[in-house]
Amino acid sequence: MGNHKVDLRSDTVTQPGEGMRRAIAEAEVGDDVFRDDPTVLALESRVAKMLGKERGLFFPSGTMSNAAAIGVHAEPGSEVLCEENCHIFNYESGHAAALSGVQLHIVRGHNGALSPETLKRLVHKDDNVHFAPTRLVTIENTHNRCGGRIIPLATMRALYDWTREERLPIHLDGARLWNASVALGIPVGDLAQYADTVSVCLSKGLGAPAGSVLCGTDASITKALRLRKRFGGAMRQAGILAAAGLYALDHNLGRLAADHANAKRFAEAVAALPGIDLNPAEVETNIVIFRVEEPWTAPEMQAVLEEYGIRMLATAPDKIRAVFNLMVSSQDTDRAIDAFRAVLAADKAASGGGAS
Ligand SMILES: *Cc1c(COP(=O)(O)O)cnc(C)c1O
Repeated sequence: MGNHKVDLRSDTVTQPGEGMRRAIAEAEVGDDVFRDDPTVLALESRVAKMLGKERGLFFPSGTMSNAAAIGVHAEPGSEVLCEENCHIFNYESGHAAALSGVQLHIVRGHNGALSPETLKRLVHKDDNVHFAPTRLVTIENTHNRCGGRIIPLATMRALYDWTREERLPIHLDGARLWNASVALGIPVGDLAQYADTVSVCLSKGLGAPAGSVLCGTDASITKALRLRKRFGGAMRQAGILAAAGLYALDHNLGRLAADHANAKRFAEAVAALPGIDLNPAEVETNIVIFRVEEPWTAPEMQAVLEEYGIRMLATAPDKIRAVFNLMVSSQDTDRAIDAFRAVLAADKAASGGGAS
């Protein structure tokens, strides 16, 4: 059963295995700023085709890809509607303001999803000079901070239909759109059709060392190409990275189902333990977020689990996140479950002795 650490802090901790490293080593490359790198171009057109979009553009990170999408759709002084727990607002260092001069208007959603009913009162038209005009709606699927929740297809469609009436584009932060597609058993393009631009990550569950692809119309991607350069994301022999992305699409897409199964099994086992507040029915993909109850705090539990070789992330004083990924086997999942049982049994004994 190995003594290696079981790293559940994120699905970004995945490391390229032998096959991926071979693909990287053998990649045919060129200067991508001259648009000369055949491997980058192959990855871009492959992802665009999968998503049903005209063109794709390779980015070093999902943050930069989302930043470019905002710059594509919204000019300085305009407003973007987004869900309050979204990654763009919470975890991307304020690029909408800093790089695009855009103000984010955050809106309370339901399990990460936004509805036309909520948004329609918030749209600012151009005809009133008091308001920052609304230029874009962003959505996230699966939803990271809401525990990997899937935005259902019907919800996406309803929002999309409404935005057509309002003449507002939608940008989909699909860092884990692959997970939604695999969990729903539908092609990723079925989800992507309800957004104008879509950013997908290769460096999360797919296991590539870096890279995201932004897809959209030819005109959007032409604008994004300039923004990528301006943001410092135009790379030269980037085929080295794109090769890993192509390899990931060939080998690591279908196996996301195993991450979902491990996450579910872990959630069911841990939810049954005292001191953990978790509804396993809400675990739909590879992310499990749960609340720890007193006397525990999340950082303390994180530290104790670390002693068992289980790494998780305390994301709030009372919240822990575990993200199942391709470095975590079914046996590793058992080890994580066993560690929880041991930790919480020990806690029970300790607090039984010194309860006050
Ligand atoms: C990881 C992630 C991103 C992009 O992150 P990078 O680390 O910049 O690649 C964007 N959106 C969501 C929802 C994510 O989880």
